[in-house]
Amino acid sequence: MQLQVSRFEGLGDAFHTRLPATPLPSPHWVGWSAEAAALLGLAPELPQDEALLQRLSGNPVPNMPDDLMPLASVYSGHQFGHWAGQLGDGRALLLGEHEGPQGRHEVQLKGAGRTPYSRGGDGRAVLRSSIREFLCSEAMHALGIPTTRALCVTGSPAPVRRETVETAAVVTRLAPSFIRFGHFEHFSHGGRHQELRQLADFVIDQFYPECRQADGNPYAALLAAVTRRSAELVAQWQAVGFCHGVLNTDNMSILGLTLDYGPFQFLDGFDPGHVCNHSDQSGRYAYSRQPNIVYWNLFCLGQALLPLLDDTQQALDALEPYKTLFPTALQRRMNDKLGLAELREGDDTLTEDLLQLLSRERTDYTIFWRRLSLAQAASADYAGQTKPSFPYSTAQPPGHAWQPVRDLFLQPDGFDSWWTRWQQRLATDAGPACDPASQLDRVSQRMLRANPRVVLRNHLGELAIRQAKAGNLSALQRLQAALARPYDEMRGSEDLADFPPDWAATISISCSS
Ligand code: AMP
Ligand code: MG
Ligand code: MG
Repeated sequence: MQLQVSRFEGLGDAFHTRLPATPLPSPHWVGWSAEAAALLGLAPELPQDEALLQRLSGNPVPNMPDDLMPLASVYSGHQFGHWAGQLGDGRALLLGEHEGPQGRHEVQLKGAGRTPYSRGGDGRAVLRSSIREFLCSEAMHALGIPTTRALCVTGSPAPVRRETVETAAVVTRLAPSFIRFGHFEHFSHGGRHQELRQLADFVIDQFYPECRQADGNPYAALLAAVTRRSAELVAQWQAVGFCHGVLNTDNMSILGLTLDYGPFQFLDGFDPGHVCNHSDQSGRYAYSRQPNIVYWNLFCLGQALLPLLDDTQQALDALEPYKTLFPTALQRRMNDKLGLAELREGDDTLTEDLLQLLSRERTDYTIFWRRLSLAQAASADYAGQTKPSFPYSTAQPPGHAWQPVRDLFLQPDGFDSWWTRWQQRLATDAGPACDPASQLDRVSQRMLRANPRVVLRNHLGELAIRQAKAGNLSALQRLQAALARPYDEMRGSEDLADFPPDWAATISISCSS
């Protein structure tokens, strides 16, 4: 890995503090992502490189140039709806930037020791939460959802005190930038408008150059662009059933990436009010509230940018489109899941009615959509297409093609009438022509690419973590491989695509990480 001084470092001392990582004793490799390695132009297999292992665990490596001293950045933010004041990288350190085949990426260690922004914290991350962040970052990417990436996890026997004594780990994260809404809030609330402008100029020049070309105020254009990306992001979360868990403004990426994996969860049974974070007693960050919370967070960003805008109205005008951007983005994603190429009036009702059915019986969200896709694939001749040989499932569905999906309901009559409405809507949908190379009709192809078979359910992560704690990494690697190809039917991974066991409902994940 060839690191250079990051562009972020060039912003100057107001933005960060330079300091070395705290050494971590006896590190070992826990996980390595071939896909993230490819981003950097590194080999896919786990490197037999002791110096890299030490470096990515925060240990000093000889002959490191002085200008590559790591740094922790300062930011502020709103936590659970309240102004929290100064926060910052309390346990993350930016090592530098790597130029690879897919552009420049910042390389950051999470869990590398205390910084001036640690407040009461120990600067460490435990193995359990590091494995969760590692697996989920890469799983989200494989699902096509914008996210920070995770190159690897290293572990150490060093004890870390949480509710019990656990062991330390470090995740190496990658992103073009880790700048958060909270970075803007920090300088704005502190009345430091010079630095605020410098930060906004940096973000525009590096990541949103089109905002400069637009007529009018470039900072308003930036707010509008971040609003668009955030609307797209949360639409993808909702469609896949992802709960972030801690949508504070310091966890909101200015690039519209999923950032900071803590108590996140993929829904098992469909419950719109589901709260995945045990510490979130008011349910502020419940699944169904995420779209409104992201809008609220965008208002915080808008408020932070006010000193750079002509007037308040400019901020409101940049934010207003969210009200149509989000529902449209969501309906587009839901239509992909439904196999519909067009967006039509009434599709929202068709979707809403289905979600009502799922929520009434807490039907498993991922399995429902996958079985619906498989039912469509199996009943392709139903719509006048060639009958497929049904290559996507190990078990041929018995009887009628929709039996396996229908069986998910205790009271299937609601589903039956919904199915008929959906089939009628499908029959009038004008999509691109059928791919002749495939036996599957275009509808089921679209559905099988939009409805994952495997997502990182809590209990799957938990099983991999239990084994990893005992020194066995095979479950972790097997899960990682399945999550890297979430839309493929892979033989031998049926358990990873199955219903959660009863004990999954008792897993409690808090902010403690
Ligand atoms: P989070 O809830 O993960 O977004 O973290 C909120 C703030 O707490 C951030 O400034 C983190 O850097 C900081 N933080 C979280 N855990 C620790 C820790 N173990 N040590 C130091 N700072 C931490
Ligand atoms: Mg955070
Ligand atoms: Mg966190």
